[in-house]
Amino acid sequence: MKLRDLFGKGKTVFSCEVFPPKKSDPVDSIYQTLDGLQDIRPDFISVTFGAGGSNVNQSTREIAALIENRYHIPAMAHLTCVAAGREDVDRLLDGLKADGVENVLALRGDVSPDYPPKTDFKHAGDLVAYIRERGDFGVSAACYPEGHLESPDLVSDIRHLKEKVDAGAQHLVSQLFFDNEDFFRFLERARIAGISVPIEAGIMPVLSERSIQRMVSMCGASLPSKLTRILARYGDHPDALREAGIAYAIDQISDLIAGGVEGIHLYTMNNPDVARQIAGSISSIRTI
Ligand code: FAD
Repeated sequence: MKLRDLFGKGKTVFSCEVFPPKKSDPVDSIYQTLDGLQDIRPDFISVTFGAGGSNVNQSTREIAALIENRYHIPAMAHLTCVAAGREDVDRLLDGLKADGVENVLALRGDVSPDYPPKTDFKHAGDLVAYIRERGDFGVSAACYPEGHLESPDLVSDIRHLKEKVDAGAQHLVSQLFFDNEDFFRFLERARIAGISVPIEAGIMPVLSERSIQRMVSMCGASLPSKLTRILARYGDHPDALREAGIAYAIDQISDLIAGGVEGIHLYTMNNPDVARQIAGSISSIRTI
């Protein structure tokens, strides 16, 4: 199934993101994650992709195939092109196709000195156009409610997003954000710019101060005062922070759905218990 077909059916799409287990984790930890997520029946599950390194990328393919064929949930494989040439992309797409994975999140990836950049695809839009030309995949792309870190301003970021959609992206998934007003303002800018494809809001529950500060420094998301108060008060109390972080995510989601968003994409951090708690608290909300 192509993900585009999930939208416009009268309920908010709910999807989850997982990442391949780190080398230090047991290989079968992904089964525990997926077993847990299976219970909450997300509309699809996406699998992240390392910026380089064939082992990481092979596991993206294997996990996406597992999601499709063992769990019977539509899978979306992330694919970055910053360190991949046309041949690498063809090989990855052929593998996904052979495994029955029909959806790809086409990304540029972060430029890193660890992976010398290849030049076949300069921006994600180039990869989107290339995959759409093949004709056999649903293609999604990333968007940034507060603007991408490299963008000089929000206007140029939206202009390039529109180019990515015009190149063939059929659905967008947003970077994490903590202030819904940022997302609603972004949505308005996108619609004014003529971007009409479904846009999912990316939500990451705050479970540890260290990991959230790391994410924020990597992606530039801002922390509203409501959240900095939570971190100041509960940061040294893991159980309390977990409760407050889950409550914050549920509050964000319920407000986003009230505001008419078409989809919620939950960054699960491979923690199915948290995902289950959140999904259980919004089960009626998301079917209205
Ligand atoms: P692009 O769309 O190419 O944009 C990158 C920058 O270039 C932006 O500033 C944009 O405005 C600008 N730009 C775009 N087109 C043009 C143009 N034609 N001319 C000039 N400027 C242009 N990273 C991973 O490594 N693995 C993952 O699995 C992964 N998953 C992600 C999932 C989501 C939902 C999101 C939001 C991000 C994810 N990332 C992942 C991070 C992503 O790779 C980085 O944010 C990366 O820096 C940008 O990727 P992009 O696809 O948005 O790039």
